[in-house]
Amino acid sequence: MKVCVLGAGVVGLTSAWWLAEAGHRVTLVDRHPCPGAEASAANGAQLSYAFVAPFASPAMLRKLPGMLLGGEDAIRVAPDPELIAWGLRFLRVCASGEVGRTTAAQLALAALSRAELAQLLQAQPLDFGLRTAGKLVLYRKAGDFVEARPSPGAAVAQQVLTPAECLTLEPSLKIAPSALAGGIYTPSEQVGDCGAFCAQLFARLRRHSNVEIRMSTPIGRPIVKRGILTGIATDAGAIEADRFVLSLGAGSKAFARACGLTLPIYPVKGHSITIPGDALAHSVTDYSRKIVYAPLDGATRVAGFADFKGYDLTIEPARIATLEKAASATFDIAGKGENSPWAGLRPMTPDSRPLIGPSPLSGLYLNTGQGMLGWTLACGSARLLTDLIEGKEPLCPAEPFAVTRF
Ligand SMILES: Cc1cc2nc3c(=O)[nH]c(=O)nc-3n(C[C@H](O)[C@H](O)[C@H](O)COP(=O)(O)OP(=O)(O)OC[C@H]3O[C@@H](n4cnc5c(N)ncnc54)[C@H](O)[C@@H]3O)c2cc1C
Repeated sequence: MKVCVLGAGVVGLTSAWWLAEAGHRVTLVDRHPCPGAEASAANGAQLSYAFVAPFASPAMLRKLPGMLLGGEDAIRVAPDPELIAWGLRFLRVCASGEVGRTTAAQLALAALSRAELAQLLQAQPLDFGLRTAGKLVLYRKAGDFVEARPSPGAAVAQQVLTPAECLTLEPSLKIAPSALAGGIYTPSEQVGDCGAFCAQLFARLRRHSNVEIRMSTPIGRPIVKRGILTGIATDAGAIEADRFVLSLGAGSKAFARACGLTLPIYPVKGHSITIPGDALAHSVTDYSRKIVYAPLDGATRVAGFADFKGYDLTIEPARIATLEKAASATFDIAGKGENSPWAGLRPMTPDSRPLIGPSPLSGLYLNTGQGMLGWTLACGSARLLTDLIEGKEPLCPAEPFAVTRF
């Protein structure tokens, strides 16, 4: 089958690889000259297989009024008509008691993702700083810590730590124990540089005999004949295929709209800095400040914030200053040189579950909306998509990710 993958972020690249390996003739299209140039470039670098709880929850509903009044610095909201429509769906999900179902579905997809990444690396040794560094989640508020305690039957081994134990585990921390309620440590969690992974997988795709690459190619209007998507228009002419995979990240909604479909995806902006120098032994999430720290080869990635403010990709100096200040207050790492400021848009659905599988438009498949967890879920999403396109029994439940839920 000829399959055209729209988008060369981490989700499009993995889709292209899994499809090509399954024997399909793949065309990969992106507007940038290089792969992974948008949300996948400099994200938080956490392969967060155990922490997949959705953003929408009854607890979020309780916090929402304070957030909307500006009480939470990590989250900023500037309402627009698109956000209001998305937000109404988000509120319905918060009230629906779907947290358990979503978490179970995401855990299954995350486990598949971990297994598929390991298999990929056996065949293709890619160098992107993958490390089982373990993740320490720090809680500054006693209430948050109590809510977060793992259940005794949790699938993954986790340790509940006192403030003093957190500091012993991660000696680079310089928070006073009295400022912490405690921590949860998950030794099996991994880190890796998503941008480097994209570059390396792209190099393999370039050499793959089943793959044609069309970079620097903005995707124009869809070409629909007798109710079937048969092509896409580009400046360099139409690209035709038997199936199309929509993996345009935050841009997925616009292409879907041109196809007559409404996808509930909103761009949620985040920022990061990359501080040169090895400092951390583990990946750390500062839960109260919504900032994550990941050790990469020779650097520390610091990322955070969820700004609901439309598609503007400007790197905001105030956000970068907050990350730098938080890093220097939490660890002894800031101020060691150029910090490579960056901003990206997470493609978020109201229930935090990606959209994977056929769309209502014949010929168009979806693999998008991975939101906060696109790096973690990419390889599993690609495998699930490939199995669905081929009509095979999927290796994890597919129904929770079907677009028909909206
Ligand atoms: C600050 C921040 C921290 C994060 N931390 C983590 C983390 O620690 N762990 C984790 O798992 N996830 C994390 N994420 C989420 C993760 O980065 C995203 O979910 C993931 O990168 C989305 O990948 P994607 O391929 O869907 O989108 P993108 O990487 O944005 O790729 C979409 C591609 O589509 C192309 N495109 C769009 N429109 C068009 C068009 N019209 N024509 C041609 N090409 C087009 C773009 O050029 C782009 O290359 C984080 C995100 C942010 C912003």
